[in-house]
Amino acid sequence: MADYAWRFLNSWAVRALCYPRTVDDYLDALQPLWSVDEIRARIHCIKRETADAASLYLQPNRNWHGHRAGQHVELTVEIEGVRHSRCFSLSSSPTDPLLRITIKRNGRVSRYIVERAQAGERVVISPPRGSFVLPQPRPAKLLMISGGSGITPMLAMLRQLQAERYQGDIMLLHYDAHPQALIGHAELLELRKGLPGLRLQLCFTREGLGDSARFSAAQLETLVPDAADRAAFLCGPAGLMEAVRRHHLERPFRALSTEQFVLPALNVRGEGEVLFKRSGVVASGASAGSLLELAERSGLTPRYGCRTGICHTCKHRIIEGWVRDVRSGEVRRARDEDLQLCVHAAAGDVQLDL
Ligand SMILES: Cc1cc2nc3c(=O)[nH]c(=O)nc-3n(C[C@H](O)[C@H](O)[C@H](O)COP(=O)(O)OP(=O)(O)OC[C@H]3O[C@@H](n4cnc5c(N)ncnc54)[C@H](O)[C@@H]3O)c2cc1C
Repeated sequence: MADYAWRFLNSWAVRALCYPRTVDDYLDALQPLWSVDEIRARIHCIKRETADAASLYLQPNRNWHGHRAGQHVELTVEIEGVRHSRCFSLSSSPTDPLLRITIKRNGRVSRYIVERAQAGERVVISPPRGSFVLPQPRPAKLLMISGGSGITPMLAMLRQLQAERYQGDIMLLHYDAHPQALIGHAELLELRKGLPGLRLQLCFTREGLGDSARFSAAQLETLVPDAADRAAFLCGPAGLMEAVRRHHLERPFRALSTEQFVLPALNVRGEGEVLFKRSGVVASGASAGSLLELAERSGLTPRYGCRTGICHTCKHRIIEGWVRDVRSGEVRRARDEDLQLCVHAAAGDVQLDL
C-alpha cells in the first residue's frame, strides 16, 4: 500500500466513517494483506525441515518494523473459522529478506501449520517480543545450549552473527532425540563457513547412548572446559532448561539468558472451589494445576497462546478469589482484575467471569 493511501486510511476521519466496523474490516475484502492496525503476512513459501517440522517464510505488510535476532512473535491463524494464537521464535535474522518461523508439530496449531498451511495464505503476527537477544557489545565467547525446536532462536542469532562477520568463539551444544529430528542441520554446516569460530556439538539422546548424551556437569566439563568464561544462551525442553539452570547456580556461566517454550509440569494443585460464573460451572480447584487446565478439564474452551505467562491471550476477569502464581509461588487475594489463567492456580475459593 502506498504511503499516502496508508496515511489517509489511518486518519481519524476514515476511522470515524467506518465506525462501528474498523478500517481493516473493509480492507479485508479488498486486499487481505492491507491493514492499518495489524501486521499481516503472506506465506511466501514453506520448507519442510524434518518429518515433523517446517519453516514458513513470511512476507509481512508495512506495519512490520523489524526485530532483533532471538525474539519471538505471536502468530495467529484461522483454523475452521476460529482464530488461534501461539508464540514462535523468528529463525531468520533481521538481515534476511523474509521473516522465517520454524515449527515442530505438536498440538492443534503446529499440526495445522506443518500439515496444512499453504503458500499464499495470510497469517497475522504481533510485533516482535522478548529480551532473548545478543548483548551489545558482542561477548568474545558464546555458549548456545538448545534442545529440539529450541534451536530456532539460535539459528536467528547465528545468522545475525554471520552477517556481522563475528570473529569470536561460539560453541553450540544441541540436544535432539536422533539425527533425523534435527532442524537446520545443513544450514548449521553452511553457517560454519561464514563463522570461523563456530563449533557444533550435537548430542542425540536416543542413539543408544542413554544418559551419557544428556546434559550434565561432567559432559559440559569435557566438551566446553571454559564454559564459565562464556555468555550462555539456553532454549529447549523443560528438563534441559532445569538442568542447565541448576548447573548455572553451582558453577555460573559469565551470564545466562533463557527462552522458555513450555513451562515445566506444574507440581501445584489448586485448592478451594472455582466458579466459572458465565458458564455456570463449578469445579474443585484440586482437580487441576492452573486455572486454564481446570477450565479445560471442566469442558470449557478459553483462548490461550503460550501457556507460559508470556502472551496474555488467556486473560480473564477474576471477580474475586485467592490465587497462587505458579511461577513464584506467591499467594494473593485478587479482585476485579484480568488474570492470566495459565500461570495462576486457585489458592482458595475463586469466581471467574468465564
Ligand atoms: C516464546 C516462545 C517461542 C516459541 N517458539 C517456538 C518455535 O520457534 N518453534 C516451535 O515449534 N514452537 C515454539 N514455541 C511453542 C509454541 O508456541 C506452541 O506451544 C507449540 O507449537 C504447541 O502449540 P500447539 O497449538 O501445536 O499445541 P497445543 O494444542 O496448544 O498443545 C500444546 C500442549 O498444551 C497442553 N494442552 C493443550 N490442550 C490441553 C487441554 N485441553 N488440557 C490440558 N493441556 C492441554 C498439552 O500439554 C499440549 O502438549 C514457542 C513458545 C514460546 C512461549
